[in-house]
Amino acid sequence: MTFHGVRGSTACHGEETARYGGNTSCVVVDAPDQPLILFDLGTGSRYASVAAGREVLCLVTHLHWDHIQGLPFFPPMLDGDSRITVCAPSPLDGGSLDETMASIIRAPMFPVGLDAFPARPDFVGLDGGSVVISGVSVSSVEVSHVGKTFGYRLDVCGVSVAYVSDHQQPMDGSGPDPKVVDVCRGVDLLIHDSQYTAAELASRPDWGHCTPEFAIEVARASGAKHLVMFHHDPDRTDRQLDDLVEAHRDSVEPRITVAREGASIALGVG
Ligand SMILES: [Zn+2]
Ligand SMILES: [Zn+2]
Repeated sequence: MTFHGVRGSTACHGEETARYGGNTSCVVVDAPDQPLILFDLGTGSRYASVAAGREVLCLVTHLHWDHIQGLPFFPPMLDGDSRITVCAPSPLDGGSLDETMASIIRAPMFPVGLDAFPARPDFVGLDGGSVVISGVSVSSVEVSHVGKTFGYRLDVCGVSVAYVSDHQQPMDGSGPDPKVVDVCRGVDLLIHDSQYTAAELASRPDWGHCTPEFAIEVARASGAKHLVMFHHDPDRTDRQLDDLVEAHRDSVEPRITVAREGASIALGVG
């Protein structure tokens, strides 16, 4: 698994964010004899390398810009022989996901329309629950955010991974939603929103995110073995993220790490 984009909201650059990286959400799961799986298509998806002829399955949590903006720059989009499936929550207005995506990728917002790309992605609207897509067992659950948003769980090659990139923390102090805890139950790896400090959350109580402490609550409630803090605020500096690493260095249940662009985690190995 490789992190190609770890930021939330918008891409960023500069000396203070260079080490952890500035691209928006994209995580690649590369498992043997499986399609290449991408969680989200943020600006980081431009850096995902896809072998010619490899099938690609993209699991998009929701359609906010930071999760889809990379699609027109995703390398297989220029390959007419590529096989790309893009899953996302079904649009709330009853329209199709293809129409929604085509309405975003077109002039004047983009130089050409979606139909001008050599690739013809298959767009699949999901409504939650467990399905097998492209031979991969995928579970999705609606999570509290701003607009319809999924968290995903994958079970591939005996390894389980949950991805909850954007998650509104309850402001009444109540614990995590049992449905979200269920989908994350016992996973080997949980990648979870950790965007705000407590002070930021207090000033942005309905912007759809949570603190690292809440991410730990979700991980503990679900028995996740390893928590990766993710979807860093674009204002979060490398030094602050180093502090987060340091604060949780000794945690064992769960093990806690902080997502960094370009970093890989080997799962089910050794
Ligand atoms: Zn986001
Ligand atoms: Zn969002």
